[in-house]
Amino acid sequence: GGPILRVNNLEVTYYTDSGRAKALDDVSFTLNSGEKLGMVGESGSGKSTLALAMMRMIKAPGRIEGGSVVVGGGDLMTLDAESMRKARLSRIAYIPQGAMNSLNPVTRIGAQMVDAVKSHLPREGRAAIEARCKRALQSVDLDPGVYRMYAHELSGGMKQRVCIAIGILLDPHVIIADEPTSALDVVTQRQVMETIDNVQKAINAAVILIGHDMGLMAQFVDKVAVMYAGRLVEVSTVREMFTDPKHPYSQALISSLPSLGNKGVFQGIPGLAPSLLRLPSGCAFHPRCASAMPHCTTIRPEPQVLPGGRRVTCHLYDGEA
Ligand code: SF4
Ligand code: MG
Repeated sequence: GGPILRVNNLEVTYYTDSGRAKALDDVSFTLNSGEKLGMVGESGSGKSTLALAMMRMIKAPGRIEGGSVVVGGGDLMTLDAESMRKARLSRIAYIPQGAMNSLNPVTRIGAQMVDAVKSHLPREGRAAIEARCKRALQSVDLDPGVYRMYAHELSGGMKQRVCIAIGILLDPHVIIADEPTSALDVVTQRQVMETIDNVQKAINAAVILIGHDMGLMAQFVDKVAVMYAGRLVEVSTVREMFTDPKHPYSQALISSLPSLGNKGVFQGIPGLAPSLLRLPSGCAFHPRCASAMPHCTTIRPEPQVLPGGRRVTCHLYDGEA
């Protein structure tokens, strides 16, 4: 029992010539096996930074300053470099944004799949690894013949499925997919989401989907996490988020959807996202918040867990936890 993933107080800072930017500030959440979390927020809010931090792939001038990422009992942050390399793909898999455009054009799909896993499977022979790759292709609804093909012979949806197949080659506990449906047409988006759904059920992984399309996501995830200026401002179930969003930013996101439910595309909310180099004092959302109170401009709200398990970072709920 217990969560398969526990992220606790994760912090990332970028040290730039123009100053320090806290790209991830005190981010904590948990996920159970088989649970799907949708991570939403404006670009620059920290969604991709969170994924990179969980994979320990933050590059200079960024630095992970604290926190833990416990997957299946062990903290990834304490692993040595070689153990972390092994943990990627086997414990936690990451499908970066635009992964399908990063497939090598001159190498067959099968060879790229083998390359991704062979160092993880030193005792598995070539034939066994090939069979494993073909099974993965089949589990994302691709013909095993794709193994011999080149990326340019595949549609966008098929390329994205190849990337998902690579992600599940070692049955990870956690799969993170960053904008897996961007640049795909609406029908293909649905198919890719259904593929993620199917493989997730097959291996009972916890899945984190990073995206902008709240409406599409709502049909596939169990929980929604909303990020703002490097902080997680709300984590709620899809139903709670759509019927009774707690954080004023979540409320603005939900009310900006053209229609509740099926086909809502996030339109954005009024006001500019803040620069991480010059965050507003107190609650970083206060210049855009319709519910701001005087102390919101000076006192930073702390994350709290409301009765029922929802997490919210906002002074409106002080004392309700
Ligand atoms: Fe608005 Fe204050 Fe809550 Fe921030 S803490 S979201 S400014 S009410
Ligand atoms: Mg991003």
